Amino acid sequence: MASQTEENYLKALYHLSSEQAEVSISALSAVLGISKPTANSMIKNLKDQGLVYYEKYKPLLLTDTGKKASALIVRKHRLTEMFLVEKMGFGWEEVHEIAEQVEHVKVPAFFDRMDELLGYPTEDPHGSPIPDKEGNISKQRYKRLSDCEMGAHVKLAALKQSSKEFLAFLDDRGLNLGADLFVEAVEPFDGSIVVLYNDKRESFSLKVSEKLMIEEV
Ligand SMILES: [Zn+2]
Repeated sequence: MASQTEENYLKALYHLSSEQAEVSISALSAVLGISKPTANSMIKNLKDQGLVYYEKYKPLLLTDTGKKASALIVRKHRLTEMFLVEKMGFGWEEVHEIAEQVEHVKVPAFFDRMDELLGYPTEDPHGSPIPDKEGNISKQRYKRLSDCEMGAHVKLAALKQSSKEFLAFLDDRGLNLGADLFVEAVEPFDGSIVVLYNDKRESFSLKVSEKLMIEEV
């Protein structure tokens, strides 16, 4: 089982490989704020565990096992941030530091329960994907209602935010997941959108329509 330091290396590699085609030891040591020799010996250690491919002068690569292990740390981090905001009322500026610690908890049931309480989100409220339990990122990324044009016929598939207040707001307007939406008009001035659904006509502000995730029907 990877130590906390190893997990931080894996996570750094995961982020670097999503941004850069080739990840070097220098890039890794810069991100982690450590010396190259330190990074080098840790990489050897991860290589011995089958988590990375590494040969001198070649870029660093995560193996499939390494990819899954690192995606699962990112999953724990993003679920924790989401949970702290949505269920515990923390501000966004406060949650990263807490998640940096919680992501190392090694009790899968703890995160499964968090996932369940949050309604199995596939994105955190920033729109960053939350990897699933296998470490995969859902290919099906929903569009936002705010990206739809006049005449679009779509279905409400997910919410970008599930705060109590937002749910109550939607409830008051009789809007539920799975509802068929027809975009009647989009106001170019402020981006508000007029939508027909369940025999209703409502106008939603941009603030609201950005949080409604839809799929085409
Ligand atoms: Zn964070």
